[in-house]
Amino acid sequence: MTQDNNQVVIFLGPPGAGKGTQAERLAAAHGLVKVSTGDILRDHVARETELGQQVAPILAAGQLVPDEILVALIRDRLSSMEPVRIIFDGFPRTQAQANALDLLLEELGAPVNAAVLLEVPDEELIGRIVERGRQAAAAGQPVRSDDTEEVARRRQEVYRQETAPLIKYYQQAGRLVEVDGTGSMDEVYGRIENAVSVARSR
Ligand code: ADP
Repeated sequence: MTQDNNQVVIFLGPPGAGKGTQAERLAAAHGLVKVSTGDILRDHVARETELGQQVAPILAAGQLVPDEILVALIRDRLSSMEPVRIIFDGFPRTQAQANALDLLLEELGAPVNAAVLLEVPDEELIGRIVERGRQAAAAGQPVRSDDTEEVARRRQEVYRQETAPLIKYYQQAGRLVEVDGTGSMDEVYGRIENAVSVARSR
């Protein structure tokens, strides 16, 4: 992306938009670490840690885990990172998280380079999530407790209320990169690569 050693990219977008898959690919291509807060929390649930037991019902209900927990997780993750080369998938999700992230990154001298917003029409999102659950079940893989139609709708609602306001926040910061998230995974990835390199050369 550039000569600057620090690289911080955020993926924004509603549940089912494909953030995890695309963030993974962008991270691999650019030598960045992908940090998915959903994956971290699900890992705690699977290992039945104290945190896992605390958050399991919140995840299953499609609600947000308290900001303090997320901020502590991210602070921890960033503390050993030098240079800071990271893609956030699923964080920040509230204005309080975005403010805390800005403070942490300021201390490290590594501001957000790009906030990629993956846009997918509402009517497609629920179908994608329910299909993901169905395919995991068919393949004998663990099915996420929140990949049911009812909980997926609750997650969309939480996204609209809590996370969508961050679009404006990163737009005003001049960091927002909007990408059409429809079409094949390769098509979407190509758009992301283009958009991020344009954002970086500004
Ligand atoms: P998706 O974007 O498809 O909903 P994620 O894997 O990103 O899935 O998140 C799954 C769940 O994990 C969320 O519904 C929420 O309960 C919890 N979670 C993940 N990231 C955060 C966050 N930054 N703040 C609060 N809760 C979070």
